[in-house]
Amino acid sequence: MELKTAPTPEPAEKKTMSGNFIHDDIEEDLTEGRYNKVHTRFPPEPNGYLHIGHAKSICLNFGTAQKYGGVCNLRFDDTNPAKEDDEYIRSIKADVRWLGFDWGENLFYASDYFDKLYGYAVELIRAGKAYVCELSADQMREYRGSIGVPARSPWRDRPIEESLDLFERMKNGEFADGQYTLRAKIDLASPNFVLRDPVIYRIQHGVHHRTGDKWCIYPMYDFAHPLSDSLEGITHSICTMEFEIHRPLYEWLIANTSCPTKSRQIEFARLNLTHTVMSKRFLRKLVEEGYVTGWDDPRMPTLSGLRRRGYTPEAIRDFCERIGVAKAESMVDTALLEHCLREDLNTKADRVMCVLDPLKVIITNYPENEREMLPVDNNPEKPERGKRLLPFSREIYIEREDFMEEPPKKFFRLKPGGEVRLKGAYIIKCEEVVKDAAGNITELRCTYDPETKSGGASTKKVKATIHWVNAKECKDAEVRLYDYLFTAENPYDVPEGSDFIENLNPNSLEIKQAKIESLFPLPGEKFQFLRHGYFATDPDSTNDHLVFNRIVSLKSNYKG
Ligand code: ATP
Ligand code: MG
Repeated sequence: MELKTAPTPEPAEKKTMSGNFIHDDIEEDLTEGRYNKVHTRFPPEPNGYLHIGHAKSICLNFGTAQKYGGVCNLRFDDTNPAKEDDEYIRSIKADVRWLGFDWGENLFYASDYFDKLYGYAVELIRAGKAYVCELSADQMREYRGSIGVPARSPWRDRPIEESLDLFERMKNGEFADGQYTLRAKIDLASPNFVLRDPVIYRIQHGVHHRTGDKWCIYPMYDFAHPLSDSLEGITHSICTMEFEIHRPLYEWLIANTSCPTKSRQIEFARLNLTHTVMSKRFLRKLVEEGYVTGWDDPRMPTLSGLRRRGYTPEAIRDFCERIGVAKAESMVDTALLEHCLREDLNTKADRVMCVLDPLKVIITNYPENEREMLPVDNNPEKPERGKRLLPFSREIYIEREDFMEEPPKKFFRLKPGGEVRLKGAYIIKCEEVVKDAAGNITELRCTYDPETKSGGASTKKVKATIHWVNAKECKDAEVRLYDYLFTAENPYDVPEGSDFIENLNPNSLEIKQAKIESLFPLPGEKFQFLRHGYFATDPDSTNDHLVFNRIVSLKSNYKG
């Protein structure tokens, strides 16, 4: 698989949606008069939460409709009663809206068409193009033939009247699950196995989330999907590559029933991202077996996880546009998604000082009981965001790693006898290192140079500036630092006999008890913590117990 890497050092030339092959096809259809409008759909199955792969499909479907002045439907593809749930419907709607798309009046359910789909199946039987079969699933597999050897289907020539009668009785609930199926009569010798008389209806007793127990037969995806598209007037049915071999069946069903629209299927390669899994089945396993805290765990590639982590819809849409569409399967570097996020947050997020691993500093020549307010920029990229006043006094916290007792040569931050600038404040000098009985550094004693106040006339220069917070007026904060959920670039890459769980990163979450300048963040609010990256308040956060998620660090941690 080709690996698309992050753009370093400069972002790659922006790929826009125009110039993608799907749009070329659509434009040809419009010019040659095959269609006079563009109508797309996003068709999630309500059996899980949406992930970033779905975002690509959403951006493509809604974006394509927007581009050509058309409409995009949201259609729940709810033809499998066993796995579906209203909770998923609510979350999918919320996620699509959050991404910034609106289906307006165009919300549909495949289950709305069960009566019509049943009617098309009857039409096919009447035309001698479908029949009721009695093979069990095992037998069907056994009879399916192989390359060059046609399938066998002993019920293929069942009289039409008999199939009509049996199909109606299937619908009436006279038979057990799996006892009969309805199959399209296409071509037992086709080199494309999908056309070897595919099953189009199966018996399945159970309760459907919308139609209750009205039905005990359900259309197969391959039957329901093209006909639902056609019923909704979809012109371009954009789907992922695995449906390419199903396209002849899609076209056969549209050609052989009285359905209203000649919809066209176009396939593109699904999105794969490094260091994560995307299949709902695997994501469900992570949730159900407790490897993550839920579908919205900030390490998950789900839209609810990315949202909780602090990702913005703008960054995700930008990412989807940059990766473009192709037919060839590829793996996109997660670093590219992170890059899009940094670009978006750089101008949006205000700067904040937060010390993740605090070390107390006493400024011995700063008067006790005195305090001054120092102005610092909220966002140097956006002067109009103004300045805020930070309290400064005798006791502060700095980052433990900003001091080294025995530093290597190129260490320019604080060291015994060394000087460093405190961001927005003064230059301090380390005079004394205080340790506990065990030899751990507990405190530094420093002096400050009152002449060096930021913005003042002093021309004194030091090589490094570090961040700090005022000890008496800061808040405690729980800061959650995330790393990739999987250490392996491709988590599925495991020795035979083991599974992707083995590639889980044991250090994907690290929790810090930090000190942060006094601020009152709103839920979901995003900040840049100086030198640490972009952070968002977690829904767990309260005014008494602040909780922040690191969305992404400042520098690309792409290690390729
Ligand atoms: P999964 O494999 O994760 O279970 P799915 O294809 O079964 O996904 P659906 O709910 O059927 O999930 O997907 C809705 C739409 O999103 C489909 O059109 C599907 O092709 C598209 N889609 C799903 N995964 C991706 C992906 N990784 N990249 C692009 N499109 C995707
Ligand atoms: Mg699916």
